[in-house]
Amino acid sequence: MTKTLLSVIMNAEAFAEAKPIKLRGDHMDQIKTGLLIRQLRTQMQLTQKQLAERIHVSDKAVSKWERGNGCPDISLLDALADVFSTDIRVLLAGDLGKQESGRGNMKKMQFYVCRECGNIIAAASGADVTCCGSRLTAAEPKKAAPEEQLQIEDIGGEWYITADHPMTKSHYISFAAFITDSTVMLFRQYPEWDFQVTLPVIRAGRLVWYCTECGFFYQDIRPRR
Ligand SMILES: [Zn+2]
Ligand SMILES: [Zn+2]
Repeated sequence: MTKTLLSVIMNAEAFAEAKPIKLRGDHMDQIKTGLLIRQLRTQMQLTQKQLAERIHVSDKAVSKWERGNGCPDISLLDALADVFSTDIRVLLAGDLGKQESGRGNMKKMQFYVCRECGNIIAAASGADVTCCGSRLTAAEPKKAAPEEQLQIEDIGGEWYITADHPMTKSHYISFAAFITDSTVMLFRQYPEWDFQVTLPVIRAGRLVWYCTECGFFYQDIRPRR
């Protein structure tokens, strides 16, 4: 009985060792990934031990990854990506440059605003979007300066988002969206109503919003830890 159990455990370990690290066609380059983990960790001024504690592994494991002598298990990638507020694909590629181009759905998602009727259309890239007789071009969000950012308050499991921004008929924020690599939540807003959005705090993502006068903005938000 004991022997059988032991053999099952050993087999499980052997399986874990042999398991190829492959996710949606991306191969992990353990040397590049290791270097990136070290870079992100030092940027956040975390010791190997502090990082290890956050994701419940030993500091030896972190040290091993950083030297390119192994890679974090797939099951840890999500936690690691969360700590660094980045994307699993960035970690897999070992390249921060992938953050802009490799965010999958997040990057592909585009917003089209019709100036005629105020319609807001979210679509995958390359979509041909027409409204009120004209072809619309995707709005390109620009990074909000600190004074342009929305106010975000963590009210226990939810982000309560407000804006110190005009909300008149001729000048108002007409929508906001919260985008992660797997979800998009859209919030329509109306003039003469205070801007207000409540979001469940799930994970880091990008908040975008569109003002009829100021344009399209984004700001990245992440759960407080
Ligand atoms: Zn229209
Ligand atoms: Zn404005």
